[in-house]
Amino acid sequence: MSKHILILGGGYGGLLSALTARKYLSAEEATITVVNRVPFHQIVTELHRLAVGNLKEQAVALPLEKLLRGKDIDLRIDTVERIGLDEKKVLLKSGITYDYDMLVVALGSETAFFGIPGLAENSFTLKSVEDANKIRAHVEARIVEYAKTKNKADATFVVGGGGLTGIELVGELADMLPGLCRKNGVDFNDVSLYTVEAGPSILLGFPAEHIERAQTSLEKRGVKFLTGVAITEMTETTVSLKDGSTIETNTLVWTGGVQGNALVANCGIEVNRGRATVTEFLQSTSHSDVYVAGDSAVVMMPEGGRPYPPTAQLAWQMGETIGYNMFAQLKGAPMQSFAPVFSGTLASLGRKDGIATIGANQTRLKGLPASLMKEASNVRYLSHINGLFALAY
Ligand code: NAD
Repeated sequence: MSKHILILGGGYGGLLSALTARKYLSAEEATITVVNRVPFHQIVTELHRLAVGNLKEQAVALPLEKLLRGKDIDLRIDTVERIGLDEKKVLLKSGITYDYDMLVVALGSETAFFGIPGLAENSFTLKSVEDANKIRAHVEARIVEYAKTKNKADATFVVGGGGLTGIELVGELADMLPGLCRKNGVDFNDVSLYTVEAGPSILLGFPAEHIERAQTSLEKRGVKFLTGVAITEMTETTVSLKDGSTIETNTLVWTGGVQGNALVANCGIEVNRGRATVTEFLQSTSHSDVYVAGDSAVVMMPEGGRPYPPTAQLAWQMGETIGYNMFAQLKGAPMQSFAPVFSGTLASLGRKDGIATIGANQTRLKGLPASLMKEASNVRYLSHINGLFALAY
């Protein structure tokens, strides 16, 4: 009898689980359904570019319908409301309920606001295409407004958090703002662009030469770094810092951290700090009919007992392992242990600069070679999911 595989999330982990499971299981053996909140697969590694209009929405919002066409995979655009593990049912916002034989939870992560007063209400985040579009429209509107009113808060932009998300975004803003200012008759010297980082330096944990490169490259383009000082409060117009100082601004983009998905944390599955714990086969440690992919799961590195970082490359490799293991579980065949291959860390510093650490021997690259590697990695992923049509944009 045909089994029902229900996949929650159409991001890296969910999409690759679905495509891989279908590679091994015929439509007679398993019906596969993917549920996703939006009708597209989001290339979140490029959102910082969409946030400044450095690429078109079509390049980062790939229609799931197109990616799944001809694959015998059902697609449901809906929001997951509740995961009922005991009754093996998932309730969607539209009121529809799905039963499942096997469940893949791949719902990603959420922004962590750490309970900082006013932050969730008064900041932008960069977790989705929708977020990126909001940032772009808002930043453009602020400069238009500044041209009229000369209100300094409109020409002041703050990025909270100096991790990779914040640094990639501030690099794009630094490259985009001069042109936007010119277009609106605003002197770019009137603009203040800050990165505020609570830790002693930006990009903590990265090689010193990369931190230095990122800092000098971005400072040359006007970014001011405030390090060792945490954001403690945000109102509509003011960022407060731990040292008692304030910045008047109408724009704070918060990139200060991510946390597990609340829906996953509260569904009764075994979790560790809000992320589902999984076996080496990526099955939930508490529910063997549930697999967890991407940021919804916490996977420990074999050496050192530290979790792998929540990255796209890890999520899609998890999806592939899960797709295969669901087939193996249904057929009673041996499952595969998750053994990710790290291609490295690739980060852009605006349009023309970047930093990268590649491969097992941690080769370091800076500048154009790093930027090109990042581009190549995106192309490789798109070709893997049959999404090369996105490059037409
Ligand atoms: P992060 O947790 O890596 O960085 C958040 C930063 O915000 C930290 O440096 C933290 O010290 C700082 N911070 C926290 N609270 C603060 C406060 N109150 N005030 C000021 N600063 C504060 O988050 P991220 O950058 O979104 O990255 C999340 C994950 O995604 C990471 O594993 C990262 O490696 C990965 N990522 C990878 C890429 C890439 O490979 N190009 C790009 C983006 C994200």
